[in-house]
Amino acid sequence: NAKRAGRNCYMFFSESMNKAASIQLETENNLKIALQNDEFTIFYQPKVSYKSKQITQAEALIRWNHPKKGLIPPNIFIPIAEKSDLIIDIGKWVRDQVLQQLTIWQEKNFPPIKVSVNVSGKEFIKREVLQHLLDIFMKYQIAPHWLELEITEDTLIQSIKDNNTDYEIIRGMDVGLAIDDFGTGYCSLGYLKDYPFETLKIDKSFINNVTKNEKDASIVKTIIAMAHSLNMSVVAEGVETQEQRDFLVANKCDLIQGYFYCKPQPVDKFEEFVHNFSQQNQTNTPNLALF
Ligand code: C2E
Ligand code: MG
Ligand code: MG
Ligand code: MG
Repeated sequence: NAKRAGRNCYMFFSESMNKAASIQLETENNLKIALQNDEFTIFYQPKVSYKSKQITQAEALIRWNHPKKGLIPPNIFIPIAEKSDLIIDIGKWVRDQVLQQLTIWQEKNFPPIKVSVNVSGKEFIKREVLQHLLDIFMKYQIAPHWLELEITEDTLIQSIKDNNTDYEIIRGMDVGLAIDDFGTGYCSLGYLKDYPFETLKIDKSFINNVTKNEKDASIVKTIIAMAHSLNMSVVAEGVETQEQRDFLVANKCDLIQGYFYCKPQPVDKFEEFVHNFSQQNQTNTPNLALF
C-alpha cells in the first residue's frame, strides 16, 4: 500500500511537473513566433523633471500585442522568456526599436528625450549587452547618452562576478546606468561606490504611502539625500497622486514617473502627450493644473 501511495505521489508530481514544463515550452514557442511576427510593441512612459517642468526622459516598456488575446503585460511573459535564451533576442529587439525611435524623433525635431530600457540579469550574465550596444550605435546615428539601462539590484549582484567590467565600459561609452526598484533588492550600498551608476529609481512600494507613513517618508528623503551627495540623480516610480508628487518635488526628487502624469502609451499617444505638456508649460498662467 505504501508502495502504491508512493507511486501515486510520484505520478502526481511527475504529471504536474510535466504540465508546468509543457506550459513553459508552449509559451516559449509562442514568444518565438511573436518575435518573428513582430507582435511585440513598446509603450513609453514620461518622466517629468521637477526643475525644468518638462518631460526630459521616458521609460520604454514592452507589451505583447497578441492577435487573439490583445495586449499582454510584461510580467506575464518576461519571466518565461528569462528562463530561456529568448530574453536575449527580446532585449536586443527592444534596444533596436528604441534607437530607431530616437532616430525618428531626431529627424523630425521632436523634443530631445532620453529613453531608458529594462535589461534582464541573464543578458548581463551572458555578456550579451555590451557588444549589442556597440552594434546598434554603429547602425543608428544616435549619441549614446540618449539611452539609459535600468538594472535591478539583483541583476547587478548576479552579473558582477568574474571581474565583469562591462558596466564600466558601457558607462564609458556614455550610456546611462540606473538602478531600478531601488531599496527592494539585496544590494549593499558599497556597490553605489564601486559601480558607475548615476541614477537611482526609488521603488514604487516606498512611494505608495510616502504621504501617509513617516517611515516611508524618511526612507525616500534619505535615498534622495544620499543619491545627491553621491552626485546621482533620483527618479520616483509609481507616482499616482498630487500629494505624492508635491512631497517628491518639495524634497527635490529629480524626475517623477507615474500614472499621476501619464500611463505608458503607444508612441503616437506619447508624442501627443509630450507636445501638449510642453505647450501647457510654456504659457505663463499661474495655477497650472500640473505644477
Ligand atoms: P519596472 O521596470 O519597474 O517598470 C515600472 C512598472 O510600473 C511598469 O509596469 C509601469 O507601467 C508601472 N507603473 C508606472 N507608473 C505606475 C503608477 O503610477 N502606478 C502603478 N500601479 N504602476 C505604474 P509594466 O509596464 O507592466 O512593466 C512591469 C515590469 O516588466 C517592469 O518593471 C520591468 O521589470 C519589466 N519590463 C518591462 N519592459 C521590459 C523590457 O523591455 N525588458 C525587460 N527585461 N523587462 C521589462
Ligand atoms: Mg524599469
Ligand atoms: Mg522600476
Ligand atoms: Mg518595479
